Amino acid sequence: MRRKISILGATGSIGKSTLDLVDRSPDLFDVVAVTAATNSEALADIARRTGARLAVVADETRLADLQQRLAGTSTGAATGEQALIEAASEEAELVIAAIVGCAGLTPVMAAVEAGRTVALANKEALVTAGALMTDAAARTGAALLPVDSEHNAIFQCLAGSRREDVSKIILTASGGPFRTASPEQIGEATPAQAVAHPNWSMGAKISVDSATLMNKGLELIEAHYLFGLASERIDVLIHPQSVIHSMVEFVDGSVLAQLGTPDMRIPIAYALAWPERLETPAQRLDLASIARLDFEVPDLTRFPALVLARNALEAGGAAPIVLNAANEVAVASFLAGAIRFTGIVNVVEDALGEADFTPPRSIGDVLEIDRATRARVETLMKAHCH
Ligand code: NAD
Ligand code: MG
Repeated sequence: MRRKISILGATGSIGKSTLDLVDRSPDLFDVVAVTAATNSEALADIARRTGARLAVVADETRLADLQQRLAGTSTGAATGEQALIEAASEEAELVIAAIVGCAGLTPVMAAVEAGRTVALANKEALVTAGALMTDAAARTGAALLPVDSEHNAIFQCLAGSRREDVSKIILTASGGPFRTASPEQIGEATPAQAVAHPNWSMGAKISVDSATLMNKGLELIEAHYLFGLASERIDVLIHPQSVIHSMVEFVDGSVLAQLGTPDMRIPIAYALAWPERLETPAQRLDLASIARLDFEVPDLTRFPALVLARNALEAGGAAPIVLNAANEVAVASFLAGAIRFTGIVNVVEDALGEADFTPPRSIGDVLEIDRATRARVETLMKAHCH
């Protein structure tokens, strides 16, 4: 049976990996909508290739170009928030949420409110609106399928077990490009060094987050909302080979792990085919040639982002929204060359220090806290410029 899917963020790293799988199984998927931020050329190519009914470009100045490129096809071109919501909630049974950042929140919530199955890569949406999103999913029957490799691993390990039988989960982390770097080297890190991840090829923002370990911090919060576990039942373990994608420890002392080569097509395929499985061209795991797996406790002195994120999770309320918004602005400034690598965490810490953590009662509240934090951080950041 063919499934109707929408791909939000189709031009990105996750979007491309998803399209690669969809292209290989033309009998299984019917792409109904695709979206991108600004790249109308790549988006039009994707729409033509998949035969999508709707292509949405977020940047309205690119709409005319998109329309021109899609002239004579059956794909409608659109822009604006309403069109993004339509792409997320109208026709698709399965929505691939692969926009980066809090910008993806409104369409993800539209998909959840419409009771769709959501393959969630966009972790920032869950970090900022976790309780509202999981409550809405419980109300509408929407399924949230984690695409993030760690959470996908845990989701696979949990299949068929009772939540009360879980004692803890262990999120693995590669340690990023600066795992063995000295504090001085980390202080001097350039954008090019920070985005050069040792094991995974990903978008720029998540690559920088992997270098600060803020990515693992966001994943702690993501795991809390997805699996309903308190902070003290979520551990982080450095595992440089990225072969074990995460683990679940049960009350009897059994530990289940999901393993595989570091290829996002594996967790994406699991979400695309759930509860079945899809063949992928991912390289098979050859444990004999890998020969050894290493583990380390994370160094919280060199990687304080992990502490900030855990504190934000434990503080609750608006704290994860402030953490995420400050981090998004700081990472963009670092990539633009305006602040140092270590300035990212300083900015996030300062933003959390003066914030009000009153819990949001609606998505409108989340978006307002996000907006206000960004404005505050722009001012704070002047203090961290070179
Ligand atoms: P990316 O930067 O490669 O792609 C992001 C996509 O979102 C692009 O299609 C872009 O056009 C779109 N987009 C960006 N800003 C937008 C906006 N303001 N409005 C509408 N669309 C916008 O990012 P990515 O690496 O594919 O990551 C996507 C999400 O998946 C992130 O939340 C990331 O944390 C998560 N994730 C990625 C990976 C990975 O391997 N790349 C792994 C785990 C989780
Ligand atoms: Mg991950």
